[in-house]
Amino acid sequence: MIMERYSSYLIKEFNIDEKVISFVEEAESLLSQRFAAIDDTTAICQMKVLKAFQDNHINATHFDWSTGYGYDDAGREAVERVYASVFGTEAALVRPNIVNGTHAIAATLLGLLRPGDELIEVTGTPYDTLRTVIGKKDGDASNKRGGGSLLGPDDFKGTIRDYGIVYKEVALGDDLDIDIEAIKQAVTPKTRVVAMQRSTGYDWRPAISLESLKAVTDAVHAIDSSIIVMLDNCYGEFVGTVEPTEFGVDVMAGSLIKNPGGGLALSGGYIVGKAALIEQISYRLTCPGIGAECGLTFGQNRNVMQGLFIAPKVVNAALKGAILAGTVYDKLGFEVMPPAEANRSDIIQAIKFGSADKTVAFCQAVQSASPIDSYVSPVPWDMPGYDDQVVMAAGAFVQGSSIELSADAPLREPYIAYFQGGLTYEHSRFGIIKSLDTLVKKGLIAL
Ligand SMILES: *Cc1c(COP(=O)(O)O)cnc(C)c1O
Repeated sequence: MIMERYSSYLIKEFNIDEKVISFVEEAESLLSQRFAAIDDTTAICQMKVLKAFQDNHINATHFDWSTGYGYDDAGREAVERVYASVFGTEAALVRPNIVNGTHAIAATLLGLLRPGDELIEVTGTPYDTLRTVIGKKDGDASNKRGGGSLLGPDDFKGTIRDYGIVYKEVALGDDLDIDIEAIKQAVTPKTRVVAMQRSTGYDWRPAISLESLKAVTDAVHAIDSSIIVMLDNCYGEFVGTVEPTEFGVDVMAGSLIKNPGGGLALSGGYIVGKAALIEQISYRLTCPGIGAECGLTFGQNRNVMQGLFIAPKVVNAALKGAILAGTVYDKLGFEVMPPAEANRSDIIQAIKFGSADKTVAFCQAVQSASPIDSYVSPVPWDMPGYDDQVVMAAGAFVQGSSIELSADAPLREPYIAYFQGGLTYEHSRFGIIKSLDTLVKKGLIAL
């Protein structure tokens, strides 16, 4: 419940409309049971992370770092052991010079696939930047909700298809969940990797549940246990008490400026999985023969470890913020994804605004609620790797960090904004209040 004192503070210091505060307050009052369930999940995740630190005997020398090649960087090795423990895997690569989530996923795919192999994406068209990695334009003809064509041969620039790897895609079913029968049909003796994307990306679907991810993993391994099941786990870490690699996903990747970095990691990505796979990927990430043995950590080991340590609590805040945003905009009559009442498998809340002006105003309002660059207004721009212009609110301590309060939207029909993050629930909630207040004051919605 938002208290009287808080309400008068917001009115006085932030000039928020009183009606907006009561509207959000009412939405929040519906959520206490769900918030309590999230707190339970967080309690378990926090203990899992603590245990990983203790089991791996982390000590202060692990915060030291070296220079040059980064040989024998005990901190780097410790970080990777802790990640492997948390995600229940044999090995991990966790590096500040994995430049983002896309790089972690691309290195995984390019490290594991060989010419003639087949890659099957089984959760529909993947995230925008991954389409470029695969060599697949927006709206590939094989996507039943799309249309259009693959990149021409002249557009190949070291993409997966450029290496002679066959790419296939299985769309989600009409229920926006995985289509197990279609996946089984798609697998052939050439299939080397079956890839899944947990989070929604810039799509209109809920995140894939842990149950569905497990069902695909089991079905594929039942056909051939040597097929590698790979997961893009961006935004999924610590949303549940179990991580997908604990129930059979062979290899999984994500970004450190999302959930597992806890807002403290300055950069980086992680890849966790079976030791033999991680070794193969390490030769792609650096080069054959060097693999994981080199790579400077630039003094980031302490940030990365402390970030991981607090990540369950940060995810807790982001998850509550997403649910509140979904509930508020659902009450206002907007279509939201996942639906306000649904169980979550990521921290993203998509809101269909249906017009560019509402979408941009929403993102600008979230930016204005930020601690950093609150006085500037984001405008749509041509981001590298994306086909459409994107407007991005990221008034964050770490540039582009989307575990911090943020909102972004590709400027295309039907104008969907993606809201996520908040290092604290209080901040995420204020972002929602501010967005509503802005839309009301601009006359774009009425309460
Ligand atoms: C964020 C994200 C990625 C990776 O994006 P980067 O900006 O490169 O870190 C990949 N897949 C999904 C579903 C994502 O949400």
